[in-house]
Amino acid sequence: MNRFDILIVGGGAAGFFTAINLAEKNPQLKIAILERGKDVLTKVKISGGGRCNVTHAEFIPKELSKKYPRGEKELLGPFHTFMTGDTIAWFEERGVELKIEEDGRMFPVTDSSATIVDCFISLAKKHRIEVLTNHAVQDVGFDDAFAKAQTTNTFFVKTSKGVFTCDKLVMTTGSNPKMWKLLEKLGHTITNAVPSLFTFNIKDKRIEGLMGVAKDVTIKVLGIKQKSEGPLLITHWGMSGPAILKLSAWGARDLAAINYKFDIQVNWLQHYSQEEALEMLMELKMAHAKQSPHTYAQLDLPKRLWQSLLIAAGVQPVIKWAELTKSQLQSLSRELTQSRYKVDGKSTFKEEFVTAGGINLKEVHFKTFESKKVNHLYLAGEVLNIDAITGGFNFQNAWTGGYLIAQAIDS
Ligand SMILES: Cc1cc2nc3c(=O)[nH]c(=O)nc-3n(C[C@H](O)[C@H](O)[C@H](O)COP(=O)(O)OP(=O)(O)OC[C@H]3O[C@@H](n4cnc5c(N)ncnc54)[C@H](O)[C@@H]3O)c2cc1C
Repeated sequence: MNRFDILIVGGGAAGFFTAINLAEKNPQLKIAILERGKDVLTKVKISGGGRCNVTHAEFIPKELSKKYPRGEKELLGPFHTFMTGDTIAWFEERGVELKIEEDGRMFPVTDSSATIVDCFISLAKKHRIEVLTNHAVQDVGFDDAFAKAQTTNTFFVKTSKGVFTCDKLVMTTGSNPKMWKLLEKLGHTITNAVPSLFTFNIKDKRIEGLMGVAKDVTIKVLGIKQKSEGPLLITHWGMSGPAILKLSAWGARDLAAINYKFDIQVNWLQHYSQEEALEMLMELKMAHAKQSPHTYAQLDLPKRLWQSLLIAAGVQPVIKWAELTKSQLQSLSRELTQSRYKVDGKSTFKEEFVTAGGINLKEVHFKTFESKKVNHLYLAGEVLNIDAITGGFNFQNAWTGGYLIAQAIDS
């Protein structure tokens, strides 16, 4: 009764994408998804602030792969088979239209993740994929004969609701430590998990009350070699925005090692050096001699941020440009280009967060996403040590892995 051709453990993004593609390619296959929760696709539902950032408008495989701090090298090949353009076409062919936002992120035109969830659920139904919720997988293995020869390929999968068997097993359990332990038992090595995609907690007078202010910047983490650039957003607890999120992803391991306590240096003028900033300030001094520097924001800075940096440099509103001393100008040029802030902890980025860590990528064939340690065992999504910066890339990893597994199993 509980025998299937293919069992997929984990009813998330990667699990459903694998199951549907498999069923579409080969309707004869008996497929089931085993999900521990009472609902499936829970992360898809809450993703992208409830809108589901499905993928990203980046259509060059090499450029796309650069968005993955872990997985860059390994995903390049798979992206030549299935990537963003294929994702857009896949959903469109199944009645889901996606739109591109200014920053390249792609969402369903409905602006609702329910569109993606409904699409998956109805396709699973249509193809008679058995979706078994409240089935927590507790153990996976095979009989001794199989372990020795791996010629017969029958897995057993023990769940909270009974034992299942299958010929081919797909693990798409995301970042569940218990499943990593289980996969370790089957011979894999696991890179320990640390959070990625988080924002920085900073208490500092210079950004107090400036929540909502955004500016393109470059940022360095002092003491370790991490640098990024892009928009920075001041929040009521510190700093967020793409520039910070990129740092949190690329520096996920380094920043965990120092317990999220470190100093950053922000260049609010992005590409200008301190010397260049000083020169520009001297020109402003000449041009606006009779005005207070507080009256108008300069150098493309949002006014509240400009005024706050003036105060930090010791320039009070009563002072006129003409009265600014050399040392005040120097101090202001430093505030503009080398502002230091103390980061004390991190906060969750509500729109998207992922875990860095998982199955060692050396143990996976990236043409098929099959394990090198166990024949007929396939792995996709966050269970692997792959994660991306924010923007729809994490789902793209799940879609690509799921698609390639379906191709491989049916070939
Ligand atoms: C709040 C939030 C918002 C996000 N927004 C975005 C976004 O907009 N765009 C984007 O690209 N990425 C986003 N992400 C990241 C994205 O959700 C993940 O990268 C993606 O869901 C990974 O897919 P997956 O199938 O590997 O894992 P999951 O989606 O986590 O699915 C794993 C499934 O396995 C099940 N499972 C685990 N253990 C067992 C077990 N023992 N037995 C049975 N079932 C089990 C889990 O219950 C779960 O349903 C977001 C993440 C979060 C947390």
